[in-house]
Amino acid sequence: MNNNPWIRAKQQLTQAAKKLGLDKLLFSMLSEPDRIIQVSLPIKMDDGSIRVFSGFRVQHNNIQGPYKGGLRYHPKVDMDEVKALAFWMSMKNAVVGVPFGGGKGGITVDPKTLSEKELEQLTRLFARKLFDVIGAYKDVPAPDVNTNPKIMGWIVDEFKVQSEKLKVKCSEGELRAVVTGKPIDKGGSEGRVVATGFGGAQVLISMLKKLGKSPKGLTVAIMGFGNVGRFVAHYLQKMGFKIVALSDSRGGIYVPDGIEDTEEINRCKEEKGFLSGCYCVGSVCDFKNKKKLNGRDIIKPEDILELGVDILVPAALENVITSKNADKIKAKIILELANGPTTLEADTILGKKGVVVIPDILANSGGVATSYFEWYQNLHELHWTKEEILKKLKEKMEIATDEVYAVSKEYKTTLREAAYIQALKRIEKTWRNQNISSKNSQ
Ligand code: NAD
Repeated sequence: MNNNPWIRAKQQLTQAAKKLGLDKLLFSMLSEPDRIIQVSLPIKMDDGSIRVFSGFRVQHNNIQGPYKGGLRYHPKVDMDEVKALAFWMSMKNAVVGVPFGGGKGGITVDPKTLSEKELEQLTRLFARKLFDVIGAYKDVPAPDVNTNPKIMGWIVDEFKVQSEKLKVKCSEGELRAVVTGKPIDKGGSEGRVVATGFGGAQVLISMLKKLGKSPKGLTVAIMGFGNVGRFVAHYLQKMGFKIVALSDSRGGIYVPDGIEDTEEINRCKEEKGFLSGCYCVGSVCDFKNKKKLNGRDIIKPEDILELGVDILVPAALENVITSKNADKIKAKIILELANGPTTLEADTILGKKGVVVIPDILANSGGVATSYFEWYQNLHELHWTKEEILKKLKEKMEIATDEVYAVSKEYKTTLREAAYIQALKRIEKTWRNQNISSKNSQ
């Protein structure tokens, strides 16, 4: 079993390229990133010492448009991981049909060990070192693990300072569009916070329509109750699904009759800081449920994967569905909102069991679709309301789902393979058009 994400990404590319009959030159181009940037980041710590951090940016390909993808601050960030994540962004952007290529970056650091001043210095230095290679029409970073709107705001500021210093002409809109996921007052978009969960719910409902199923009463278990898990729970509940289990890193709750109000659980989690402390909220306090799951009223985080539900939504970590537990999964549909929650081996097992896996590059693409809306609004000096954003997002997710489903029928593949084939088809079409137009202009 190989858990190197870059090897996994290349296997996915190879399999889909073979099925599609992808042009050999394009396949070679997509097999390696366009550019890899590694920078050294020395900063003065609060105690006067100097520490040197490593920063990365991988630009996978820009056939569809500027490179686009998040920045993650994590002690385990390494080049192979960033390369894989940049490749997946190329695929995701192409599946959902936004005019971006793929990129990803990060710094090998545990941001929780830095003061805010140190974190700001580190971020600003990273932005200065990336100044030549990022920009609204070059490469557009965004938040990812352990980065947030505030950090994006520092990058916008620093980019502006450098542009003025180096006399690089940029419109106000271009200065803002250098990153997405900004605070609203710095050009961020309405609806970005709910976008991934909302988009995931739309993908699920569109896919169920294709499968001839109604959401009414279908039971759902959601692993992860952070930004994504919280909002997918909210929107699925509004659509008529029965949310029966939720978990976070410290525990979970299981209510076979259905959690009455996931918003109330959310309020409770915000107050207590962990989900398992919210057992006695609303209907969750139903005593008879306490007998379930070997007498436990509160479940362990990983128990959620094996519950007897219709739909399982991993919305926390990568590699949680593995060859060890895939056989025990009872859900018939898995909606992958986390990035890479299923290993290759587990995918094969689930396929044999007939489980429908809605792959991450489709299911969680609502986030980047809304980042595209943010970038577009910045460049055109627009400000759309949350309602407008969600309407546009709904349409985008429905179209992307229809396309992936149609490809899965045409090529007789799983939805995951279909999503990769659809992404490669779109990239190949743009690439061929670009080649034709460059030949014509010679
Ligand atoms: P988050 O940090 O807001 O939330 C993560 C949640 O997972 C937390 O509730 C945490 O307690 C929980 N968790 C951690 N370990 C767990 C475990 N062992 N069992 C159960 N729960 C556990 O992160 P997020 O923004 O919600 O992202 C979740 C996933 O979705 C990640 O894989 C991320 O890459 C992916 N994703 C997020 C977005 C986005 O817009 N935020 C977009 C695309 C993909």
